[in-house]
Amino acid sequence: MRKDDRNADEMSTIRRMTRIETMAVHGGRDDLTDLGVHAPPIDLSTTYPMADQLKAGEALQDWAEGAAHAKSPVYARLHNPTVARFEQALAQLEATDAAVAFGSGMAAVTAVLQASCVMRGKPHVVAVRPLYGGTDHLLSSGLLGVTTTYTTQDEVAREIRPDTGLVVIETPANPNLDLIDIAHVVAQAGDVPVMVDNTFATPILQNPAAFGATYVLHSGTKYLGGHGDVLGGVVACAESLAGPLRQVRILTGAVLHPLGGYLLHRGLATLPLRVEAAQRTAKLLVERLGNHDAVEFVRYPKPDGLQLRGSGAMIAFATRADPFDVVRRLKLITPAVSLGSVDTLIEHPAALTHRLVPGQAREASGVPANLLRVSIGLEHFDDIWHDLNRALCDAAYVKASPSDYWAMTAAH
Ligand SMILES: *Cc1c(COP(=O)(O)O)cnc(C)c1O
Repeated sequence: MRKDDRNADEMSTIRRMTRIETMAVHGGRDDLTDLGVHAPPIDLSTTYPMADQLKAGEALQDWAEGAAHAKSPVYARLHNPTVARFEQALAQLEATDAAVAFGSGMAAVTAVLQASCVMRGKPHVVAVRPLYGGTDHLLSSGLLGVTTTYTTQDEVAREIRPDTGLVVIETPANPNLDLIDIAHVVAQAGDVPVMVDNTFATPILQNPAAFGATYVLHSGTKYLGGHGDVLGGVVACAESLAGPLRQVRILTGAVLHPLGGYLLHRGLATLPLRVEAAQRTAKLLVERLGNHDAVEFVRYPKPDGLQLRGSGAMIAFATRADPFDVVRRLKLITPAVSLGSVDTLIEHPAALTHRLVPGQAREASGVPANLLRVSIGLEHFDDIWHDLNRALCDAAYVKASPSDYWAMTAAH
């Protein structure tokens, strides 16, 4: 059967039955064969000519009202076909009707706050710490006219008020990998929309919408792009909520560049493989770190197989050595913020990503000053362990055990 002969129902059945690895490769590419191309075209136009100005005006009106499709993109701030392909693919992976992409993860968080709080005159937010440092800072700053009450996942219901416009959670949380029961928070939120930041888990390991999340947010900069070379954000949600997000995007200009859309779309194809490989290495590292004399404790999520289908490739550990000294001694692992890239990255949350969270609140939410966060990359396990073990031993003046020593020399 040719593609054209299939009706929309058949296509959506095919889509539902398709496994995630296959969706990651084929999503957003339905019409490429008809176009006669293999790679999605990158449409860099800023404007779109239309001789019939009345028709152009109708299309403009459609976009302004938050439509997903119209007769012409009209202007690049209203719509971009390359970005739309990425959105379609991501929505399929999150099993939502729609997705709306933005110029960064923070632009996506901002748009959700504008659509759920500012546009609806409900300026109060309930949030569970820890959160990504930027999100925490945005919520605390009052910049968008929102005020935020921080609470725990069991006391969300108590903090909901008539003017609460949004509940914000992150699971696994940045940076200490705390887990939150999404359905439990959704039940407490009642009619209030719940935004779940799914950046750490990726759609491969967790689909928050299946547990009632209203908005599923990703910093595409991390695992979706996967190579540390594209900044972007995306929100997956029901079509009825995507409209207001598109309106915010048009009005504020928080658009994703088409080249970014192309790179994020391309990143999705290898996402399942990258997550699986990095997760395998992370498991081994967690075992080794847990037995290391210079390590106080290791944080690594335990999947329940239902909400969270795998532990992922983010780990955090508290060191008995000077954390600054440990990082300084690393030779292979990249000392940098961000995560989800091909190379292993390490950062010191109290000094960097969570610097702007007040010290006491930071400690209380499980982010001590000696915590280091590691995003496991795609290097060989032996090389990552060799680098980390040596840095920890040297920083703590602990001698490497003979077995570790032989593991090191065998790898080199
Ligand atoms: C990086 C990150 C963000 C912000 O994304 P940007 O693309 O940097 O704007 C939001 N949430 C989490 C969990 C992140 O790691």
